Amino acid sequence: MNPAYDFTGQVAFVTGASSGMGLAAARAFAEAGAAVGLADINESAVTAAARDLTDAGHQVLALVCDVSDEDQVAAAVDRTVETFGRLDMAYNNAGIMPPPTDAADESAEQFDRVQDINLRGVWAAMKHELRHMRAQGHGAIVNCSSLGGLVGNPGRAAYHASKHGVIGLTKSAALEYGSRGIRVNAVCPGTIATPMVDAMLAGGELDSDQAAAGQAIPRLGTAEEIAQAVLWLSSPGAGYVTGIALPVDGGYTAQ
Ligand code: NAP
Repeated sequence: MNPAYDFTGQVAFVTGASSGMGLAAARAFAEAGAAVGLADINESAVTAAARDLTDAGHQVLALVCDVSDEDQVAAAVDRTVETFGRLDMAYNNAGIMPPPTDAADESAEQFDRVQDINLRGVWAAMKHELRHMRAQGHGAIVNCSSLGGLVGNPGRAAYHASKHGVIGLTKSAALEYGSRGIRVNAVCPGTIATPMVDAMLAGGELDSDQAAAGQAIPRLGTAEEIAQAVLWLSSPGAGYVTGIALPVDGGYTAQ
C-alpha cells in the first residue's frame, strides 16, 4: 500500500530486488504505478518476486545479474530500457555483510569481495543508469549506503569502507549531473529487519535489543520504512534534494 506517490508511466530499476529492502522498494515502486526491472543474483528468488508482482497486476521484469560484473549490470539496465522504453528511477541496493573480523586478520579476498559488490556494484549500476538518464535529460538515482557509511564499527572495517565509498560516489555524481536534470542521493539505513539481519541474529553476530537500545526509536526498522525514503528521494517532492546521505536509522547517528 503506497498512497503517496504516482509513478504511472515511469520506469524504475532496482538491484538486490528479490529480498529485504530491495524487494520492498521494487514492490513500492510497482504499487505506485512504475514498471520495474528487478535485478538480483539469485535467479529463483528474483523470478519468484517478479511472478508475485506480475500476479498482483504490476509490470515488472526479472533480471539475473551479479552487480560485481559490469557487463551483467550494463545488460540488465539496457534490457530494462529496451523493455519499458526509458529509465526514470533507480535504487542501487544490492550488498553483502561479511562476518565480523578483527581488522588485523581480514583477508584480501574478503575485503575485495565486499568492495566488488557493495561499492563497485553501485558504481557500475550508476554508470549505466546515467548513460540513459544523461540522454533523456532527467532521472533520480538512490544508492544504498548504511549507517556504516557515516560511522565506524569494530570488526566491520571492510563493510564500512564500502559504504563510506558509496557516499563519495553519490556526492560526486550529484555535483556532476545536477545541472543536467539528474539527482543522485544515498539512503543510510540503520539496523533493519531483513534476511541479512536475520542471519546476523541467528549467527549471534547481533543482538536486536542491544542494537536498538542506543537509538532514539528503540526498535529495528522495517524494509518498508526504507522503501518509503527511497520513493521520496525518487519523487518530484525531493526535486531540490541531491547529494545527500539520508539516515533512516531510528536516530542511531543522532548521538
Ligand atoms: P538482503 O535481504 O540480504 O538482500 C540483498 C539482496 O541482494 C539478496 O537478494 C541478495 O541475494 C542480493 N545480492 C547479493 N549479492 C548480490 C550481487 N553480487 N549481485 C546482485 N544481487 C546480489 O539484504 P538487505 O538487508 O535488504 O540489504 C540491502 C542493502 O542494504 C545492502 O546493500 C546492505 O548492505 C544494506 N544495508 C542493510 C542494513 C540492514 O540492517 N539490513 C543496514 C544498512 C544497509 P542472495 O540472498 O542470494 O545473496
